[in-house]
Amino acid sequence: MSYRALPSVDRLVQNVVAANLHRELPPSALVSYARDVLAAARLALKNGEQVEVGALVAEVGHLVAQDVEPRLRRLINGTGVIIQTNLGRAPLSAAALEAITSIAGGYSNLEYDLQRGERGSRYDHMAAALARLTGAEDALAVNNNAAAVLLALSGLCTGKEVIVSRGQAVEIGGGFRIPDVLRQSGAMLLEVGTTNRTYARDYAEAITDRTAAILTVHRSNFRMSGFTHDPADAELAVLARERGILWIDDWGSGSLLQTADYGLAYEPTVTDRVRAGCDIVCFSGDKLLGGPQAGIIVGKAALVGTLRKHPLLRALRVDKLVIAAMEATLLAYRRGTATGELPVWRMIAASPDDLHARAEQVVEHLRQRGMEAIVRPCQSAVGGGSTPGEMLPSAAVALLAPNPDALHSALRTAQPAVVGRIADGHLLFDLRTVLPENDALLAECIVGAYAALQSGGAPPPKDDA
Ligand SMILES: *Cc1c(COP(=O)(O)O)cnc(C)c1O
Repeated sequence: MSYRALPSVDRLVQNVVAANLHRELPPSALVSYARDVLAAARLALKNGEQVEVGALVAEVGHLVAQDVEPRLRRLINGTGVIIQTNLGRAPLSAAALEAITSIAGGYSNLEYDLQRGERGSRYDHMAAALARLTGAEDALAVNNNAAAVLLALSGLCTGKEVIVSRGQAVEIGGGFRIPDVLRQSGAMLLEVGTTNRTYARDYAEAITDRTAAILTVHRSNFRMSGFTHDPADAELAVLARERGILWIDDWGSGSLLQTADYGLAYEPTVTDRVRAGCDIVCFSGDKLLGGPQAGIIVGKAALVGTLRKHPLLRALRVDKLVIAAMEATLLAYRRGTATGELPVWRMIAASPDDLHARAEQVVEHLRQRGMEAIVRPCQSAVGGGSTPGEMLPSAAVALLAPNPDALHSALRTAQPAVVGRIADGHLLFDLRTVLPENDALLAECIVGAYAALQSGGAPPPKDDA
C-alpha cells in the first residue's frame, strides 16, 4: 500500500465501527486512536514495510479494547501474604462494602450536623468509636499513616527537635523514611543511641528546651535480635512527662486485637500503646485494622484538637467512602465480631485443617478438569509490616505443570488476575489468602489459563461470579 492508499481518519473510524470493534465508543472518541494508528502506518510505509487496512482496523480495535478495560483489576491472592501493599492490602468486610454503596450513591451528612441543621465536621463521624476502642481521649483519621505521622509532627513539633533512636530511624517502604518525613514536617531530627542499643538515658541526655517530642517507630519490616536494647515503655513515659515533652508513637500496623491469641508473636495493641503513656499514636487503617486506607491518630484531646485545626489537615483529609467503610469496620470491633467479619482477621484465624480441606477441594476440582495438582503444606505471612518474620502454617494447591512460569504469567494476565508463588518448580496458591468464596473461581481460572497456554491463545475472560 502507498501513502495515498492509506484510509482517512474518518474512513478508518467507520471501518472500526463496521467491524464492531469500537466497544460502544462514539466515532468522535475513536479519532485519536485512528490518528495514532495512521501515524504509525505512515512510519511503517516509510521504512518499506507492508501495511494493510484490515490490520489498521484491528490495531485501532486493540487500542480501544485496552483503554476501555479498567486498569485496576480484581485479583485472587494466592501468595499467602495477607496484607500485601502491592495487592491492595486489606479486603473490606461485607458491612464496609454495604456502607460504601449506601453512602456513595447519594448525598450524606458528611459535613452537616443533622441536629442543628448547620455545618458539621467530617472528622466527628469516626472519632468517638476510635477513642472508645483504643481508650484514647480523642481521635482523627487522615488519608494514610504516612499522612498521620506527617500531620502529628507538623502540628506538634515544627521548628523544634524530635528525638529518635538510631535503631528506629527506619525506611518503611514506598519512600517513607523517618528522617525525610521529619524534615518535611519542619521538625529537626536528633538521633540518639546506636543502631542496636538505645537507653532511656540516651533520650534523657538529648532533651533540651528545643525538644518537642520523642518519636518511637515500630520496626515493621525487620527484626532486631542479639545484643539489642530499647528502653521500657514506662521509662519513656516517665521521661516525657517529667521533662514536659511529648511521646509520639508511629505504631505502623496498629492492631486492636492481640496477635498472640492467633498463633502469632505478642504485639502490644493500639490500646496498650495508649495505656503505656504515648501522647499520640499513629497507625494504618488498612493493615491489621482490616479497614479502608487511612491513617489514624489517637491521643490526648488537646493535641488531637490542635491537629484538627492544622491547615495541612485539609490536604490530608479522608473521603466519605473511607469514613463509611471505617465506621462499619469499627462497629465489628465494638460488637466483638471482628474475627468473623473482617477478611484480614478471618484469614489470620483460619485453621490449617480448614485450609487443607479447602485445598483438597480445589485439587479435586482441578483433577476433574484433567489437571495434575496436589495439596502442599506451606507458610503464610501477615505482611504489611505486621509481626515481621512470623509465619502461620497453611495449605497450598501445588500445580504439577511442566512450565510453571508460563502458567503463572497466563494467570496474572487473565481476568480476574491470579497471583501465586513458585517454590521448588511448583506453582503454589496458598488458600489462606484466597477468599473462600473464590475457591471455585481460582480452580476455573487455572483451568482456563492452562487451556489457553496449550492452545497458544489468550485465556478467555472469566465469569464474574
Ligand atoms: C506501614 C507503616 C507506615 C505507613 O503507613 P501507610 O498507611 O502505608 O501510609 C508508617 N510507619 C510504619 C511503622 C508502618 O509500618
